[in-house]
Amino acid sequence: MKTELIQIKEEDLQTTKGQRKLDAAAALLQKGEVVAFPTETVYGLGADGMHAESSKKIYEAKGRPSDNPLILHIAEFEQLSGIACDISDNAWKIMKAFWPGPMTIILKKKPEVPKETTGGLDTVAIRMPNHPVARELILKANLPIAAPSANRSGRPSPTLARHVMEDMNGRIPMILDGGKVGIGIESTIIDMTGENPVILRPGYITPEMIDQVVAGVSIDPAILGGPMAANLKPKAPGMKYRHYAPSGDMTLVEGEPEKVISKINALASEKREEGYRVGIIGTDENILAYQADVIISMGSRKDPENIAANLYGTLREMDERGVQFIFSESVGEEKFYGAIRNRILKAAGYQVLKV
Ligand code: AMP
Ligand code: MG
Repeated sequence: MKTELIQIKEEDLQTTKGQRKLDAAAALLQKGEVVAFPTETVYGLGADGMHAESSKKIYEAKGRPSDNPLILHIAEFEQLSGIACDISDNAWKIMKAFWPGPMTIILKKKPEVPKETTGGLDTVAIRMPNHPVARELILKANLPIAAPSANRSGRPSPTLARHVMEDMNGRIPMILDGGKVGIGIESTIIDMTGENPVILRPGYITPEMIDQVVAGVSIDPAILGGPMAANLKPKAPGMKYRHYAPSGDMTLVEGEPEKVISKINALASEKREEGYRVGIIGTDENILAYQADVIISMGSRKDPENIAANLYGTLREMDERGVQFIFSESVGEEKFYGAIRNRILKAAGYQVLKV
């Protein structure tokens, strides 16, 4: 299969040419084909979520285990009634507060949503993205679009159309290239099938932000990582897989900055002496202090948005540059950093050294 890469910027949406590009993408979706498109979080791999056959194509293209459910993307509240039921007042409050935006909600599903889309669950994950290309595409296709991140299963999520091309070339008919995504890590997933919000995956929308809308937020203990979580089963099935990961063996080093720098340099030099190609992931504040084959800064510690936007691209670059061992700085837990930390921990397979 030939994969077409179609450039489409926000301003193109006002032009006939831009609209024609989206018409072509929407027509593919309506035919049951798979199209990758930009959202504000990461690139998504979209298909008609109401038909088992199209959902199956997503799993095939990604190499995704079939028990890992997909998120249905909608553009208008009216689309909800066709896919979810038993929606509580608190669930409405959450949706009204955070949509369109980087928030996915878990609700009870309508029978019309095929089990193939929900990985066999009787609940469904739904998001209303705010990226203009994603919104227009969903409106034109006039379907709930099932769309997981557009990476091969296990690889870091794509933040550029080029990343999607690397993983999906020859596997899907079309990629819409809307440039670099804004946020760079996946949506916050909130389970609202009970009274109180439960966070199943941390993201840009933080527990504090949710608490302002509906009090009593908790976090699925299985996603926090570390020895405590080792025997817990995450409520979002996808969180159990080691993903977001580069191919190189990655270790996080945490502690006081001075000690972190000297430990990372010591570990890097040890591995280089053994003949390995070594990468270091740091932050602007410390980056000049490192020695390795490949050194990349994720951004400034004062700017979590920037770190999030660069994280997956950095992990992919480590792969592209053939790095076998990666030593990385970590980030704290507070606010948006908690979501970033969750992804870095997963990328490192929870290998953490405290110094
Ligand atoms: P991705 O689209 O690649 O960001 O992955 C979607 C995430 O949503 C995975 O972690 C899934 O396990 C999770 N998810 C999707 N549907 C449900 C559901 N009904 N209940 C819990 N988690 C879900
Ligand atoms: Mg994913």
